[in-house]
Amino acid sequence: MRKLASIRKIDEIRPIEGADAIECAVVGGWTVVVKKGEFKPGDVGVYLEIDSWVPTELAPFLSKGNEPKEYNGVKGERLRTVKLRGQLSQGLLLPVDEVNGTKFITGYFREDGVGSMIIVKEGDDVTEALGIQKWEAPVPAQLAGQVRGNFPTAVPKTDQERIQNLKKEFEEWKAQNLVFEITEKLDGSSCTMYLDLEGDFHVCSRNLDLKRDENNSFWKAAIQNDVENRMVAANLQGLAIQGELVGEGIQGNQYKIRGQKFYVFDIYDTKTGAYLNSEQRIKLCQQLGLEHVPLVSVKAITAEDIAGILQEAEGKSLLNDSEREGLVWKCISDPSISFKTISNRWLLKNKE
Ligand code: ATP
Ligand code: MN
Repeated sequence: MRKLASIRKIDEIRPIEGADAIECAVVGGWTVVVKKGEFKPGDVGVYLEIDSWVPTELAPFLSKGNEPKEYNGVKGERLRTVKLRGQLSQGLLLPVDEVNGTKFITGYFREDGVGSMIIVKEGDDVTEALGIQKWEAPVPAQLAGQVRGNFPTAVPKTDQERIQNLKKEFEEWKAQNLVFEITEKLDGSSCTMYLDLEGDFHVCSRNLDLKRDENNSFWKAAIQNDVENRMVAANLQGLAIQGELVGEGIQGNQYKIRGQKFYVFDIYDTKTGAYLNSEQRIKLCQQLGLEHVPLVSVKAITAEDIAGILQEAEGKSLLNDSEREGLVWKCISDPSISFKTISNRWLLKNKE
C-alpha cells in the first residue's frame, strides 16, 4: 500500500505573501500550508499525502464545522490539492511531540484510549497506525467485473511513484544525465492483457485477474482489439501488454471518447523478467494494431528542481484539448527507474 502517512523532516518554512496566520512547509517535493509558527525547519512532523482518507478524530478541523463525510464506514475527509492565498497546498502536516529525545504521536487515534501513543522516528510509516485509508473513486459496475483470481504474480503491477517522494533520486538521476521516455499519463483505468506460457489469456484490472465477460469494459477492449488471437498468432506466450482504458464511463472521460479505447504503455516479458524497451514496445503495438499512449518527448531531466519538473507536467492532452493529467517518465537505459508527475493545474481543476 502507498505510504500515505509518514514521519518526515521539514526541509524548509516559507512565508506566503500577504498572509500573516499561515505559512508554507516543504517536505521532500511537497509543499503544504501550515499555521504560522507551528513548525520550524528541521522539525519532524506527520505528513499525510493527498488522497489520504483522514479519520475525523485525527483532524476534526478538516470538516470545517460541517458534518464529516464517510468512506468505508469511517467518518473523515479526503485530502485534496488546494490553493490557499494563492499558495498550492498538498496534504496535511501534523505535529509530533518530543520528550527527552523520544518522539511520539499521542491522543486522538485510538478510540479505546488504550496505549494511545506511538513512539516514532523519522521515516516511519504510520498509515495503518493512524487509520488512514487511500481514497479511491467508486468503481463503475462495467469496470468491476467478476474475479477470476489475484493479479498474476509473474507480471509487475502498473503503479508509479510520485516525483515528490523521490527527491534524493531526482538529484541523482539529473546528475547522471539519464535519458527518459516521457509519455502522457492518461486518466483512465489500468488494464493488463496477458498470454501466459500455457497459452491461457488473462485480462486484468489494476489488482485483479477477471473472468471472461463481454459486459466488462476491460474484456470488451480485449475482444474488440482481437488481442488474444493476435498474440497467439504472433507467438507471444509469456508477454503481458499493459495499458490504460479510457473513454465513456471512466474517470469522467475528459477525452470525450465515444465508447472506450485501450492505450498501451508497457509490455512485459515474463520469460526474461524484463520490459520491452521503448522501440520494441512501439513496434509491437504497430504490429498488433494497438494504440500507444502519446509520446511527448525523449530527454534527460532539465528542470532545476521538483517544482520545475511538476511545471512541465502541465499542458494540454494530445488526445483532445483538455488539460492533461500529467506525464510518466521512464528511463531508457534502466526501465526499473520510472515516476509520474501529476499536473497541479489538473489536480486543482479535477474536483469530482
Ligand atoms: P495513486 O495510486 O497515486 O493515487 P492512480 O490510482 O491514478 O494514483 P497512479 O499510480 O497515479 O494510479 O499512476 C499509475 C497509473 O497510471 C498506472 O497504473 C497506469 O494505469 C496509469 N497510466 C496512465 N498513463 C500512463 C502512462 N503513459 N504510462 C504509465 N502509466 C500510465
Ligand atoms: Mn490513475
